[in-house]
Amino acid sequence: MSWTKTIGIIGGGQLGQMMAISAIYMGHKVITLDPAADCPASRVSEVIVAAYDDVDALRQLAERCDVLTYEFENVDADGLDAVIKENQLPQGTDLLRISQNRIYEKDFLAQKAQVVVAPYKVIKSSDDLADLDLSKKYVLKTATGGYDGHGQVVIKSQEDLADANQLADSADCVLEEFVNFDLEISVIVSGNGQDVTVFPVQENIHRNNILSKTIVPAHISDELAEKAQAMAVQIAKKLELSGTLCVEMFATDHDIIVNEIAPRPHNSGHYSIEACDFSQFDTHILGVLGLPLPPIKLHAPAVMLNVLGQHMEKAQAFIQENPSAHLHLYGKLEAKHNRKMGHVTLFAKDAEEFGKGVEF
Ligand code: AMP
Repeated sequence: MSWTKTIGIIGGGQLGQMMAISAIYMGHKVITLDPAADCPASRVSEVIVAAYDDVDALRQLAERCDVLTYEFENVDADGLDAVIKENQLPQGTDLLRISQNRIYEKDFLAQKAQVVVAPYKVIKSSDDLADLDLSKKYVLKTATGGYDGHGQVVIKSQEDLADANQLADSADCVLEEFVNFDLEISVIVSGNGQDVTVFPVQENIHRNNILSKTIVPAHISDELAEKAQAMAVQIAKKLELSGTLCVEMFATDHDIIVNEIAPRPHNSGHYSIEACDFSQFDTHILGVLGLPLPPIKLHAPAVMLNVLGQHMEKAQAFIQENPSAHLHLYGKLEAKHNRKMGHVTLFAKDAEEFGKGVEF
């Protein structure tokens, strides 16, 4: 058996790039598939330039690679099923289908994995919103295609119903009870098809629905942190997970509620590159190759700040003043507003003080 493999990554954005870097230093070769010849992964891998749903390009990738993986969940699952060889995609296409549709995702989380989710109801049309008990608040989310707050309506009073009815008549939706959370948290977990390994609990701060900052460890009790990690492990085991998965959750003062899953490394886990002995990308590669997974140790509390297009100058000035901060830039040529250009990871003696104070 050869130690080194050719790994095919569908999607050559920053997640594909960081997966490729991990794979390369373990001795593997990487080919990515991406519509842009100058995508971030092009700096570290060969790129097949084609649309993600181009079945001929997927077939070419499958033929040239031992193992396939993806950096995002909106991959054409049927197209992939048509071209992959047996066991060539250890993450499987079912996990894609679950995470592409909030109705399947909620059903999986609540019924199969049996973790706590916000009370929810499937909404097929505005008729299903009639007789809504408006003494409670809700979030209506489209089942497919929504991300980072897009395709969502918060229902707090009668006035919000017009927008909600419109959304409900345009697509299948899920109606969730609004959670009055203290913190948004996430847990990264990786599997190799048999065993799993889990990362520390991350605290996530969003601005305009985009992740702005991650603080590790999260400011929650040990008891809640253990519960959050146990839920992530329970989900991973139910999936017989291969590779890295992120579980996004809400922490209230006494409980953990699972919001959604992303079947890949996640922006909130980038701190692990420097702050843990193995990064979420390392364990992703080990996991999809079916290799043994290490327990994860956090070296020190850490803070990760996203560098968006509008932060480029501030981030560079920050690095000048803080040479111990780790700047990552993904090699994107155009610094568009809100585009994720890179991130900065800082170690902090007191993550609380440091984490709350630093902003771009
Ligand atoms: P999502 O697309 O599910 O990640 O939701 C985007 C953001 O909306 C989350 O990061 C939360 O800030 C907020 N959100 C989503 N679902 C709920 C909920 N049930 N209750 C309160 N806030 C929510």
